[in-house]
Amino acid sequence: MTVSTCTERELISRIQQQLPPAPAWLPVGIGDDAAVVEPARNRLEVFTVDAVVDGVHFDRRFTPPAAIGHRALAVNLSDLAAMGAQPRLVLLSLALPADLPLADFDGIVSGITQLATREGIAVIGGNLTRTPGPLTIDITAVGTVKRRNVLTRGGARPGDLVYVSGSIGAAAAGLGWLQRDGAGVANTCVERYLRPIARLKPGLLLGRNRAASACVDLSDGLADGVRRIAEASGVGITIDASALPVDPEARHWFESIGQEATHAAICGGDDYELLFTVRPRQRGRLKAAMLHGGVPLTRVGVCTADRALLLQATPQTAQAPLPDGFTHFR
Ligand SMILES: [Mg+2]
Repeated sequence: MTVSTCTERELISRIQQQLPPAPAWLPVGIGDDAAVVEPARNRLEVFTVDAVVDGVHFDRRFTPPAAIGHRALAVNLSDLAAMGAQPRLVLLSLALPADLPLADFDGIVSGITQLATREGIAVIGGNLTRTPGPLTIDITAVGTVKRRNVLTRGGARPGDLVYVSGSIGAAAAGLGWLQRDGAGVANTCVERYLRPIARLKPGLLLGRNRAASACVDLSDGLADGVRRIAEASGVGITIDASALPVDPEARHWFESIGQEATHAAICGGDDYELLFTVRPRQRGRLKAAMLHGGVPLTRVGVCTADRALLLQATPQTAQAPLPDGFTHFR
C-alpha cells in the first residue's frame, strides 16, 4: 500500500491519531482552514522553518522512516534552542512521492509526533501534497522566549570565551559508517546521525541566566558555526584544537579511514550542538547550564579584536587558518 491509495483527509486523520489532545491555547487546530493560537503571555515568539529533502539531507536507503521524521523536527528545535527559546508549536508541510509506502508515511509521522510529544510541542496544522520529486518534509516551528533572554549570533565581543556543548564529529562519522556499511550498522555515532538531539535545555538555561553573549547551533560543522558568530558579532575567533570535545568513537572512525580526526570533526555537519560565547566575568552564570543542561560544556576558544579565524593545534605550534565547514551549495 502506498500513500496514493489514501485521500488527503485519510492521511491527515492518520497523523491526528498519533497526536495527544490539543492544548487549551489552541482553540482551532488541525482540520479547519487555518489554526488559531492564543499567544503566550509576556513572551516574544521565535519562528524558524527548515526542510529535509531525500537525497540532500537524508538517504532513504539507510535512514529508517521514523528517523527521517525525527530529524526533520530536531533540526528546527535546534534552531530554537540556539535562540534560547522554548518550542511551542509546529506546522508540517509534507511533499510525498506517490509510491511512498503507507507504512513509511506512518513511520515518518511517528518520528515527528513522538519527539513533539516528548518535548510538549503541539502539531497545530500543515499541508500535504503529492510530488513528482523527492520526499520533502518542511517544518515550521515556533517557540517563545522572554525579551531579555533572547540569544543571537551577534553579541560576542573580543575577550569572550567560546564554548561548545556535548561533543563534535559523531554525526559525520555515523553518516560515513552508514554510507560504507549500509543500514545494518548500529553504534553511538550512527545513532547521533540518525536521531540528532536538539540542545533545548542548555539553550533555555543559557538564555534564562543570560550566560551567553552569542549562540549558534552546529548544523554545518563547528568551523561554520565559528564563522557565523564571528561574522555577526564582528570579532575574530581562535579555536584551541586540543580542547575540542571530539567524540572518541568518531575519532576512531576518522583515523580508521585515514583522516585527521580533529579536522574531520570541525568540518563535519549534523552535530546540532550549541556553540556560544561568554563574557569572562560572567562565567559564573554558566553554572546552571553546566549542572542541569544534561551535557558537558567545554571551553574551546576565545574571541579576538583581530577578525582572523584561527586554529591553534597546541600552545607550542603556530596558528593556522580555520578550515571551512560543510556547505550545501558548493
Ligand atoms: Mg541554526
